[in-house]
Amino acid sequence: MNFHKLKSTLKDLGEPNFRYKQIVGAFCEKGVLDYSQISNIPKKLAENLEEKINPLSFSVEKNYSANNNFSFKARLKLNDGELLETVFLSPAPGVWSACVSSQVGCKLACKFCATGQKGFKRNLSSEEIIDQIIFWKHFLREKKLNGNFLNIIFMGMGEPFMNWEEVKNAIKQLIDPEFFNFGSRHISVSTSGDCLGIKKIAKEFPQVNLAVSLIFAEDNLRSEYMPINRKFNLKKLQSTISSYLEKTNRKVFLEYVMLKGINDDLKQANNLINFIETIENGKKLLHVNLINYNATMAEFAPSEASTVNKFKNYLLRKSIKTTIRKSLGDEIKGACGQLAG
Ligand code: SAH
Ligand code: SF4
Repeated sequence: MNFHKLKSTLKDLGEPNFRYKQIVGAFCEKGVLDYSQISNIPKKLAENLEEKINPLSFSVEKNYSANNNFSFKARLKLNDGELLETVFLSPAPGVWSACVSSQVGCKLACKFCATGQKGFKRNLSSEEIIDQIIFWKHFLREKKLNGNFLNIIFMGMGEPFMNWEEVKNAIKQLIDPEFFNFGSRHISVSTSGDCLGIKKIAKEFPQVNLAVSLIFAEDNLRSEYMPINRKFNLKKLQSTISSYLEKTNRKVFLEYVMLKGINDDLKQANNLINFIETIENGKKLLHVNLINYNATMAEFAPSEASTVNKFKNYLLRKSIKTTIRKSLGDEIKGACGQLAG
């Protein structure tokens, strides 16, 4: 929804100011997607708006749902024909989270990531980002799903800090009480380790959650599989995370996708422990999230469950906060991180 256009159109039509608020409320709070369903607006105005402004900046190509009805994925077709994926899942009873995309594709080309391997197409506008939220609000309502839409995670396609202006504008609107009124602490941004971006978010949104996709705690390995490490190596990342912790005193998640035979032995666990221990307050504020690899590339396989457990217990014994992330939505290839469009 292009809210600027909505405002100027209403003005041109000579509508009173409160109409704008009514319509914004219907879209952002209630997830109404049809002008004729907005109560209290005249039928003629609804028809006029229908002709003039599309509520969404994409059409739905396909909707998938996992058997359990706890995760959904939509493939969306943007106005220029590019395809986008967005995920809606319930991590706990009564709680819904949207995993949104910030770019079509990704320039950073991490070898284990389906999005990265497809290459980069373009940035999304803040409108296209916001529309994913309106879309899931509408979905929750239409499907009469139980619970509340509480969390937004920038863990879909793309690197949020490579499109920061648009992501930033989207976050501003998401936390704005006049629009969506999400709590900052219910929004998370995941980065592959863009140090400039981490500095920016510390300053601009210290209450928004940060996750860093570390995946490797050894420079040679990390550079091989995650080219961004050639620009921001582990030392730079450590000092950036240190400053972030000092500034915000917030918990940071280190995402660690377990790749069989590559980063899942105890030598690598020791590297990870070193990485964390070298950061001031690292043991207190850093939290390791072990993620099951969702097979997308022939080159990689997920670590055995027993290996993941061993890795986890080793970290725990060294007092590193560690959890294994439940991978919701595997069945629909919609777990965050394997969105390829
Ligand atoms: N570009 C950002 C956000 C999108 S990627 C980032 O890299 O953090 C979201 C997450 O999915 C990252 O933690 C990434 O490491 C993970 N991921 C990528 N490919 C995956 C796969 N095939 N299986 C499981 N997780 C994957
Ligand atoms: Fe891009 Fe993140 Fe995938 Fe790396 S893991 S290619 S940064 S989307």
